[in-house]
Amino acid sequence: MPEKYVIGIDIGGTNLRAALISGKGEVVSKIKEPSKVNALESLQKAVEALFSDNVAGIGIGVAGLVDRKEGVVLCSPNLHGIEGVKFRESLSQQFPVPVMIENDANAAAFGEKWIGAGREFNSFVLLTLGTGVGSGIIYKGMLADCAAEIGHMSINADGEKCPCGNYGCLELYAAANAIHAKVVSALEKGSESLLKECCHGNVYKITAEDIYKHAIEGDNLAREALKEAGRYLGIGLANIINIISPEAIILTGGLVGAWNIYVQEAVKEASRRSFKALFDKVKIIPSLLGDDAGMIGAAGLVFSAQPGIEKKIR
Ligand SMILES: [Zn+2]
Repeated sequence: MPEKYVIGIDIGGTNLRAALISGKGEVVSKIKEPSKVNALESLQKAVEALFSDNVAGIGIGVAGLVDRKEGVVLCSPNLHGIEGVKFRESLSQQFPVPVMIENDANAAAFGEKWIGAGREFNSFVLLTLGTGVGSGIIYKGMLADCAAEIGHMSINADGEKCPCGNYGCLELYAAANAIHAKVVSALEKGSESLLKECCHGNVYKITAEDIYKHAIEGDNLAREALKEAGRYLGIGLANIINIISPEAIILTGGLVGAWNIYVQEAVKEASRRSFKALFDKVKIIPSLLGDDAGMIGAAGLVFSAQPGIEKKIR
């Protein structure tokens, strides 16, 4: 019998990643392209490119609240035009294999548990730190069947309104958008920074990457913006530690590149705020699978749900 594969897909705000994944979690062939306005169309094209008789299923991770049973996205604060789209129904009509849909960070958490940095842990929380803050929870060795929208935990009662409907959400303070807004506002007010030069004087063109790069090189404004976001992330980490008391918190996403500034500040703040006994037992570590975690995990969920296909998760 030829080896069976599952197509794992991660639909994010910036990119769509898709790959053929083996039963051991190996990435066999991979596609990455910028997310288009019509997510369903890009999804169908990616599946078409990877599909063959050896494909036993399709797993999709998508940024937003999902209805697993119906295979639709209920709400997505950061991805527009995908609410209510019947991903599973449309793909099932075209491709005769089981199709599963999961929140992208939940899928990434499953991926890290399956073959990544979470293999050894019975309980951990994964946070994706990019434009927003996504999260997934592994509890008692399994993907917790809950929304796990930690990025939308309010950390400021009087904070600004979030697209999710709440006010003062963690991701409004701890993620890339917040860092970017702080830098732009400071430059508008005349703060000195080498960041001014990287965009030929147009401060609105500064990217999050420019900020991390300058922070690492020692630019004060960039460092302060990252540190402030890190402090807010630390409030979130303290809440996670006090509520879930996981063995580990696994961090992934673009912001993790500035670990020594941003994450270090977060860890310091979390240690100040959480129960010492709980803080002392938690390991705060980077992910192993990085940006591939979502698509690997989405495929892993399909393997684990199908008897007869080898699954490696405990
Ligand atoms: Zn929110």
